[in-house]
Amino acid sequence: MNRKYNFSAGPATLPLPVLEEAKQQLLNYKNAGMSVLEMSHRSKDFITILEETKTALTKVLSIPDNYDVMFLTGGASTQFATLPMNFLKNSAGYINTGSWSKKAIKEAKLFGNVNVVASSEEQNFNYIPQDISLPGDVDYNHITSNNTIFGTQWLQFPQRGESPLFVDMSSDILSRKFDIQNFDVVYAGAQKNAGPAGVTIVIMRKDLTEKSNTSLPSMFQYKIHADKDSCYNTPPVFQIYLVGLIAKWIESEGGLETIEKRNRQKGELLYQTMDERSSFYTGTAKKDSRSFMNVTFRLPSEELEKKFLQETETKSFSGLKGHRSVGGIRVSMYNAMSLEGIEKLTEFMKDFAQQNS
Ligand SMILES: *Cc1c(COP(=O)(O)O)cnc(C)c1O
Repeated sequence: MNRKYNFSAGPATLPLPVLEEAKQQLLNYKNAGMSVLEMSHRSKDFITILEETKTALTKVLSIPDNYDVMFLTGGASTQFATLPMNFLKNSAGYINTGSWSKKAIKEAKLFGNVNVVASSEEQNFNYIPQDISLPGDVDYNHITSNNTIFGTQWLQFPQRGESPLFVDMSSDILSRKFDIQNFDVVYAGAQKNAGPAGVTIVIMRKDLTEKSNTSLPSMFQYKIHADKDSCYNTPPVFQIYLVGLIAKWIESEGGLETIEKRNRQKGELLYQTMDERSSFYTGTAKKDSRSFMNVTFRLPSEELEKKFLQETETKSFSGLKGHRSVGGIRVSMYNAMSLEGIEKLTEFMKDFAQQNS
């Protein structure tokens, strides 16, 4: 079929069985006589799709009853503003671990005081601050679970403490098991691990939804979105459908336990390949903060990095160029990237190091 090994940071590779199912149902969804793309969001078929998506997500993530699950638009970047708009009355604690945290902080500052509890900016975000104690006297604290650009990830989350804890999980939601009850809000743009671009998943403790700001324009009120079951306005129907297919795919693969194991295997293979050639491949993230989703490394020179990227393009690998703020190479390996893809890439990396050192 000539599909490439797609290492793009996002939008990213999706599971082939999901694409095939969507393709098969594209023109006529389960005998509805129309595509999901063409359906009213008030129709029985779509309401069923929405319910099935929520049920499947709730199951894979073990979301308890006291959380709302919403499907919103505007990407995670809109949540950077909507969360403080709703909950920041005096001050909020933010941990600054990369470009996305910085953007979240910038938006929050429009609405109140931001207490930067910890930051790794002085070392170009190459680590996750350890042993954090989150302040208990703020409206909420905020962390970014995986730093897509800098290749770092919270391997162990800080304890929630007295104040609510919000997490931007855009680039590692559904990649591993975690206790949702350590968080009051989990949000994610879907386009890395959970679906296509265009839908944002927001999981919010119901008591917090109840306390959200009701004097905002309607589209910025969580209470309205929750009360209207994400259908206050026209929701991104096709994206919600695909998120549902992905959640069901994860379930059929054995749930998050299996997915996490596979992601570890992929990460360990890639990091081992780098570390065994550490004079050639230099990881940019500190070892105790390395991400299992986005792996960032440099080669001995920019010329070699260019050559590396040129050769990968001819090998049906795609999307390996690092973000400009780090340079070098970035391998994004979300759930839908197979172990086989990483095996092929590491074989290439071994050969390339041998031929060029
Ligand atoms: C990609 C990404 C975002 C940006 O999401 P949009 O949906 O494009 O707004 C935010 N946070 C993190 C951690 C990301 O990886």
